[in-house]
Amino acid sequence: PPTLPILSIKSLSVRLPAGSDRPFAIEGLSVDVAPGEIVCIVGESGSGKSVTAFSVMGLLARELSVAEGRIELQGDNLVGKSEAEMRQLRGARMAMIFQEPMTALNPVQTCGAQIDEVLRIHTDMDAATRRARVLEVMAATHLPDPEQLYDVYPHQISGGQRQRVMIASSLALDPALLIADEPTTALDVTTQKQILTLIRELQKRRGTGVLFITHDFGVVAEIADRVVVMQYGKVVETGPVDDVLRRPQHPYSKMLIASVPSLDPPARPAKKQAEVVLATRKLDKTYGGGGFLKKAREVHAAKDVNIEVRRGETVGIVGESGSGKSTVARCIARLVEPSSGAI
Ligand code: ADP
Ligand code: MG
Repeated sequence: PPTLPILSIKSLSVRLPAGSDRPFAIEGLSVDVAPGEIVCIVGESGSGKSVTAFSVMGLLARELSVAEGRIELQGDNLVGKSEAEMRQLRGARMAMIFQEPMTALNPVQTCGAQIDEVLRIHTDMDAATRRARVLEVMAATHLPDPEQLYDVYPHQISGGQRQRVMIASSLALDPALLIADEPTTALDVTTQKQILTLIRELQKRRGTGVLFITHDFGVVAEIADRVVVMQYGKVVETGPVDDVLRRPQHPYSKMLIASVPSLDPPARPAKKQAEVVLATRKLDKTYGGGGFLKKAREVHAAKDVNIEVRRGETVGIVGESGSGKSTVARCIARLVEPSSGAI
C-alpha cells in the first residue's frame, strides 16, 4: 500500500497585504513529501518558497494570512491551529533550518544550551539524560569535540559549524519533517557539500521527510528526490529530479535550467598581449596586532600576492571565504593600507 505522506499541502493560497504586486504570495499550491523523501522547491527570488515554508511552520508574518487550503502534517491539518498547538508541533514533529544560522541561534547562549532548550521544552528528560542526548546529536552532525563545543558561543565557531549546531538542535527530537530554507546559500562550496551530505545521511538514517528550498540547481541535483518548480507563487512543474533537470517541460523550468552557468568556458577570440594596467608585487597585508584594550589577534590576510591585469582582460580571483580575496581588492583600491609590497 502507498505510504501516507508526512506533509501534504493541498491547494494552499496565502494572501498578501493590499497594495502588493500580486494578490497572493502563493496560490493553489499542492506539494506532498513522503517519509524519507527529499523534495526540493526551486524558483527565483519572490516566487513564494519561503512563504510556503513559514506557512507550514505556522510562522507567517502578521500581514500574511492563509486564504484557503490545508496543510496536513501526518494527516493532521495545521491550518487554524492555535499558536500554543503550533509551538508544541515545532521542534517535536517538524523543524526548520535557515540560511543564516546566526539569525536563528541565540548569540548569548552556548551551543549546547540551545540544543538542550529544545529538549527542556518538549520532554521531561532529566538534566543528565538531556546532556547525553545533546552530545549525541552534536556527534551525529559531525561537530568536532562536542564536550568542548557544548560551552562555546555561536560567534566563536565557523559558519559551517553554526549550521551543524542548528541542524543538531532541529533534529534533537527526531521530527518527522525537516524544512530547510536555503541552508547552504551563505556557505562556501566545500562546506555546502559537507552540509548536504550530512542532511542526506541524517534523513536516510531516520526516514525524515525533507522539504528543501533552494534557487541553486547544483544543490537540487545533489540532494533532491523530487523537484517542485515555483513561479509567481504557483507550481509550474513537478517531477522526479532526473525528469525535471534533464527533460524540463514548462518554459519557465527550461529557462531556469538553461541559465545555470556552465563550467566550460565559452570559446574566446585570442587577444593580443596588451599592456599591463595593474600589477601587485609581493603584496602583503596583516590585520590587527596593536589592540587598544587588549592585544588583538593578528591575521595575515594576504601574503606575497603577485597579480597582473592587462588592458581589456578580466582576471578572476577565486578562493574560499577568508582566503584573502577582498583584502587584495581593498588594498588595490587603497581602502585599506597594505602592510608591504607594491601596487
Ligand atoms: P522566495 O522565498 O521564493 O524568495 P517569498 O516566499 O519570500 O519568496 O515571497 C513571496 C512573495 O511574498 C513576494 O512577492 C514577497 O514580496 C511577498 N512577501 C513575503 N513576505 C511578505 C511580507 N511580510 N509582507 C509583504 N509581502 C511579503
Ligand atoms: Mg526565500
